[in-house]
Amino acid sequence: MLTINLNAIQSNWLQLKSLASSAQIAAVIKANAYGLGAVRVGQALYAAGCREFFVATLDEALSARKFLPAEVNIYVLGGIRNGEERDFIVARLVPVLCSVSGIKSWAKINADMGLAMPSAIKVNTGMTRFGLDVDEFKIFCCDKNLIKTVNPVLLMSHLACADEPDHPLNESQLEIFQSCVSLMRNVKPEIRFSLANSSGVFLGEQWHFDLVRPGAALYGIAPNTDITNPMKAVVKLTLPITQVRRLSEPATIGYGADAILPKGARIAVVAGGYADGINHSLGRNPEGILDGQLVQSIGRVSMDATIFDISGISLSDEQLLQSNIEVINDELTLDYLSRKNKLLGYEVLTSLGNRYPREYLLGVSHG
Ligand SMILES: *Cc1c(COP(=O)(O)O)cnc(C)c1O
Repeated sequence: MLTINLNAIQSNWLQLKSLASSAQIAAVIKANAYGLGAVRVGQALYAAGCREFFVATLDEALSARKFLPAEVNIYVLGGIRNGEERDFIVARLVPVLCSVSGIKSWAKINADMGLAMPSAIKVNTGMTRFGLDVDEFKIFCCDKNLIKTVNPVLLMSHLACADEPDHPLNESQLEIFQSCVSLMRNVKPEIRFSLANSSGVFLGEQWHFDLVRPGAALYGIAPNTDITNPMKAVVKLTLPITQVRRLSEPATIGYGADAILPKGARIAVVAGGYADGINHSLGRNPEGILDGQLVQSIGRVSMDATIFDISGISLSDEQLLQSNIEVINDELTLDYLSRKNKLLGYEVLTSLGNRYPREYLLGVSHG
């Protein structure tokens, strides 16, 4: 069972709001809210007061348009691909225009339809992935007519190393962004600015501008390793025990017979395997908590099942068959798992897959 605590997500959003008190707080719910379920997560964030949402693709945006109230702004980080222009207009989606050609196609559809639907413009300040280079941005800023038809309402950039507060690129990206901000203010004073992702919020007020765009921190991922994680844990994963056995002889365990256990050892097979992302989310040698004790998986993780050595557990077979092994909880945290398996917390969450039964916890909502 994958348990997602929506109250914790709401309280993480409110924590970021109080940290970036001079800015608006958006929420990034791309990739199905980092695997946790964009519908329930988006609606819980709306209930907490969030009115601006970022997704990655047109499909995600069209779906968010349906499950979120009509008043919210939905920004599409991947920009527009050819042929998608009309869908953006009809659903009132704000494309994040990342290239000269993206700007041209938005200008064209707006001009063709006699509209000036809003857009966001992204500049590259050091990530070198999406966004106009500063030179291209300067040229854009000189074209008053183009700015009118493209109607940018947000100028943004993305930090590459915000999770390393001492990294010199943070300052350098800030400086480059500030120069773009000044240019843009001259031609369109009412536009808003946005630089910070989750970790960027923790760099300090200078990085906040008008809008911050947290994703990871909402879902309990630590913003950086310099401080103890201030975010509330959001996910818990428990795997039900489906079979228990005590070995009457020494035996090889699992595919490839990679492991051998002695006579008398006890094992538990749980529902959940690499098709559920376990090799990625929990690593090839998952640990779990059973009856308050740490247990270790044994042998290879298979597609639908993982075997644990539970020789030290004294519960009866009947009790075990009613039990779950907790594999993500307050002890085996996302931070711990990502450190142990050399993964990002982002990767742990987005590789959880879709097969676990899900349970959403939501008490009284804020707002
Ligand atoms: C994914 C993304 C975010 C959110 O980043 P987190 O590190 O998850 O807070 C913000 N801005 C952009 C452009 C993104 O692609």
